[in-house]
Parts: sequence; C-alpha cells; structure tokens
Amino acid sequence: MSLDNNLIKKFGNNLSENVNLSNYSWFNLGGKAEYLFKAKDKNQLLEFLKEAKQQNLMITILGAGSNTLIRDNGVKGAVVKLGKNFSFTKLIDKNIIEVGAATLDRNVANFAKENNLSNFEFLSCIPGSIGGAIVMNSGCYDDDISKILISIKAIDKNKLTEIEIKKEDIKFSYRGSNLSENLIFISAKFKGSFDKKDKIEKKQLALKKKKKKSQPSQIKTCGSTFKNISKDKKAWMLIKEAGCNDLKEGDAMISPKHCNFFVNDGNAKSSDIENLINKVKKKVYEKTGANLELEIKIIGE
Ligand SMILES: Cc1cc2nc3c(=O)[nH]c(=O)nc-3n(C[C@H](O)[C@H](O)[C@H](O)COP(=O)(O)OP(=O)(O)OC[C@H]3O[C@@H](n4cnc5c(N)ncnc54)[C@H](O)[C@@H]3O)c2cc1C
Repeated sequence: MSLDNNLIKKFGNNLSENVNLSNYSWFNLGGKAEYLFKAKDKNQLLEFLKEAKQQNLMITILGAGSNTLIRDNGVKGAVVKLGKNFSFTKLIDKNIIEVGAATLDRNVANFAKENNLSNFEFLSCIPGSIGGAIVMNSGCYDDDISKILISIKAIDKNKLTEIEIKKEDIKFSYRGSNLSENLIFISAKFKGSFDKKDKIEKKQLALKKKKKKSQPSQIKTCGSTFKNISKDKKAWMLIKEAGCNDLKEGDAMISPKHCNFFVNDGNAKSSDIENLINKVKKKVYEKTGANLELEIKIIGE
C-alpha cells in the first residue's frame, strides 16, 4: 500500500520508503520494508501510530534485530524502530533504574555496575535491546529479565494509549510472557541489589568468558535458534543426537561451535536459513520424538 505524500512529508527523515532491512538483523539478511519509521520520541510515535491505524498500515516493531530473521521478500506496512530518545539510563531511586526500550542490554549492565548495582551482570552477555529482552524474557546462566523487572511502560498500538504494567501482573515464562503483541515497550524499571563495583565487574567478565568459550562470536547469527525443551534436553543436544550438525542449505549453516546457532556464512538467503530450520526440526522429530520450538522470531513475506 502507499501512504499519501503529505504523511511522508509530515514525518520527514524519520519515515522512509522501500528500505533494505538486511542491516537491521544480526543475520544480515532480509528484503525491504515498505516503510521504515524511526520514532524520534513518544509523541511522534503516537502520532505515527494514529496515522497508521487510520490507513490500516501494518506495524512491525524491531529492536536491535539480534533475535529476528527477516524474510527475503521484505515486510509489508511499516517497520518501526525506536530512535535515540528511547535509549537512556537513569537512576531514579537508590537501587532502581529506569531505561529506555532501545537501550542496549550491555549498556544497562554497565550503568548498573557504575551505580554499584548487582543482578544485571547477565545483560552484558546479550546483544539485544531492552524492548527485545522484555518480549523474549531474555537471560542466561539462570538469570532473566523477569528477575530484575519492576514495571514496563508501553504504548498499545491499537488503543493508542500509554500504560504502565507491573511485573506482578505479567506471567513470564522461558523466553516469553503473556504480554500482548499489541504493545510497544518504551521503557522499563529494574531493581538491583547493592554490591561492590569490582565484584560486579568480575562477575560480568566471568559470564562473558564462559559464553565466549561455549558460543561462537563474530558471525552472522541470531543466537539460539530453538528453545531448550528442558534443562537436560537442550536444543543443541537434540540437534547433535539427530546428526544435524553438518547440515547446510545454500550458505546457511550450523555453527561448529554451538549447533543451536544457525549462521549466514556469506551469501545465504533468508529462505536458506528457514529451510535449514525446517529440515533440522523434521530430522530431530523423526530421530528423537522432540518437537523443537523456535526461539528466534521470523517476520515478513
Ligand atoms: C550472539 C548472540 C547471542 C545471544 N545470546 C542470548 C542469550 O544468552 N540469552 C538470550 O535470551 N538471548 C540471546 N540472544 C538472542 C537475542 O539477543 C535476545 O533475544 C535479545 O533480547 C533480542 O533483543 P533485540 O532488541 O535484538 O530484539 P529483536 O530481535 O529486534 O526483536 C525480538 C522480538 O521483540 C520484539 N520487540 C523488540 N523491541 C520491542 C519493543 N520496544 N516493543 C515491543 N516489542 C519489541 C520484536 O517485535 C520481536 O518480536 C543472542 C543473540 C545473539 C546474536
């Protein structure tokens, strides 16, 4: 669909047409967005959502793209990214911090460390933004976002209202929650516990070292492709058991270091990654009876 020219003019440089999305996913893959809207601030976001609703424009929100495969034929409607004003860290009470949803997880971990606040160390190992971390209930080594969360501020893209949701009113699960898909998270409050800065730094470094040892880095991937079935039935174990480690589809391959990490090894297409996913899922089911569920999100046509 095409938006009227007045609208394009109204949002100026923040709204672009036919934008290649490959730079917006860690797979470095994906077709074009019909529209890409980079929201300057909350008011502009609300204004855009209002116009989008009137014109029946589909809205897809993207964070840092470290958990999202974008299909080759692109995304219909508007892909929304939160701009710089949504990236901030604030100490609002002795041990409580408020952060914008576009803030990178590692910046939140470092801000907490600078303020002698512990329990945020795991965020230094996760390459996404806080918005994505809330949707995914991201975590590692027995910690996850739900354990430090106090509340979230969000805009409901249908009702066009801002709401604050308390953690007690959210049901978090492993890599998910019951939060509505209509919500665009704009900020969140977290609580830490006091500790010495050098102790926090040591914990951060230890976690990063542990991750580096077991997972590949400097590759085009979105991390774990499938969710673990349980603590003793990890996705990588089932993939290995089913003999899928060496499977390839075009330039889509499985990381030799961690077989739940699927990789664009140069010139893969998104369809190669998706075909590889389906192939592995089928083989794992046939061999082990386990039904692997995707951890990564797939968007587009
Ligand atoms: C090398 C590597 C290692 C990783 N290690 C881990 C790990 O240890 N633990 C872990 O949990 N994950 C890990 N991941 C996966 C990924 O980093 C996390 O899922 C991360 O939290 C995703 O954040 P993002 O901003 O990149 O989300 P995106 O990929 O941009 O989006 C993910 C989902 O969140 C939604 N979303 C994003 N922002 C918002 C918002 N503001 N409001 C509403 N919805 C939003 C999107 O629509 C999408 O559905 C890893 C990924 C990589 C590449």
